[in-house]
Amino acid sequence: MAPPSPKTQATASHADLDRPSAAPPTMQSPDAEPHGTADLLAMADAHLMKNYRPAPVVFVRGHGSTLVDTEGKSYLDFAAGVAVNSLGHAHPRLVRAISDQAARLMHVSNYFYNEENVLLAAELCEKTGYDRAFFCNSGAEANEAMLKLARRHFYAKGEKDRFRVIAFDHAFHGRTIATVNLTGTPSYKEGFGPKLEGITHVPYGDLDAVRAAMGPDVCGIIVETVQGEGGVLPAPPGFMAGLRSIADESGALLLIDEVQTGMGRTGRLLGSEHAGVRGDAITLAKGLGGGFPIGAMLIPEKLAGALPPGTHGSTFGGNPLACAAARTVLAALYDEGLIDAARSRGALLGRKLAELAAKHPDLCDGERGEGLLRGLVMKTSLDGRVVIAKAREEGVLCTVAGGHVLRFTPPLVVTDAEIEDACARIDRALSKLRLEAISAG
Ligand SMILES: *Cc1c(COP(=O)(O)O)cnc(C)c1O
Repeated sequence: MAPPSPKTQATASHADLDRPSAAPPTMQSPDAEPHGTADLLAMADAHLMKNYRPAPVVFVRGHGSTLVDTEGKSYLDFAAGVAVNSLGHAHPRLVRAISDQAARLMHVSNYFYNEENVLLAAELCEKTGYDRAFFCNSGAEANEAMLKLARRHFYAKGEKDRFRVIAFDHAFHGRTIATVNLTGTPSYKEGFGPKLEGITHVPYGDLDAVRAAMGPDVCGIIVETVQGEGGVLPAPPGFMAGLRSIADESGALLLIDEVQTGMGRTGRLLGSEHAGVRGDAITLAKGLGGGFPIGAMLIPEKLAGALPPGTHGSTFGGNPLACAAARTVLAALYDEGLIDAARSRGALLGRKLAELAAKHPDLCDGERGEGLLRGLVMKTSLDGRVVIAKAREEGVLCTVAGGHVLRFTPPLVVTDAEIEDACARIDRALSKLRLEAISAG
């Protein structure tokens, strides 16, 4: 059957809207038998926005680095929600902290203080050396705050035209209108109206390009210490330090997006510690709540007045439940030695991935990354999505970054044995991929 023309397709889907219940399986009461996989996938197809392309797997529970689907099949979760489940699934201490806090106090507004919020701010500042925290619910929101901070800081100093931001090609800073404009992948911005004014993109790693793009109108440079979504690309040596001096020379702020690299992921609490560089503001999210949504911006005292009352806020940001989760994650990173573990386990994962790249030179182009944020670079001719589907069949979950890089971001509690096991499964997946390519001619 020939695929329908776009016109027929549009007509058909419009007709679907009017059809009385196209009979996706109906809701059941919570205590009825659980839905089967096929039912859930049909309901998803009927009722979820089509902005994602999820794999046809429905997860129901997890423990440590393992996830279990509706069919009872177990997977080694080397995605961890995209670097989110830093303590793995169902970490007893995190489960207890969240349930205790939910039973005590879940939400109060920012018109009042709450204990967990204040304690988290103090603890994050103590560990990072920054002075003040702003809390929100996601990475994009944290970056929005950082962008507003940079512009408002110079506005308050009377430099009202100083609003331009330097960002990098292949950078990822989120999906809101402002943060998607900071993002360095043109296709993400297409169709969302005029480009936001005052953003200049330059190649990542190119200090000369940054220097050439600077001017008295630049308020900030926003950068990731490892480009995560862009393809697990660590900053080249000297790049972060170079940005620090360029920012200092011009008086612009260095804004470091640590949403993916922060919270121990790279083997240091902050990714920027590897280069010994401090930002004028940093953002955290992903791993911060260990799976509970929370984002943060941390700043030094000199910027304390940049967002005075009335200029920025968040209804949910900094609620006691999210802050209790993040406090538990932060404490566990130290109590359980997880930052050092990210460094040593990351080195093991890196060695294993390098072995895989050497064993499959027709499919792979090497390995890169830092700590437990690692990429297996596939040949650009390969579609990363096909490779991760094969890996999933073998029981390993990972994600694609930059189109052709398999990104591995296991929980920081991952064991050496799990790393060996996952890499053996990836090895099998790559061998099967080759065999299938050969038999397909
Ligand atoms: C994931 C990510 C974001 C966006 O975070 P959300 O929570 O999805 O809004 C921003 N910056 C970086 C570096 C990220 O990896």
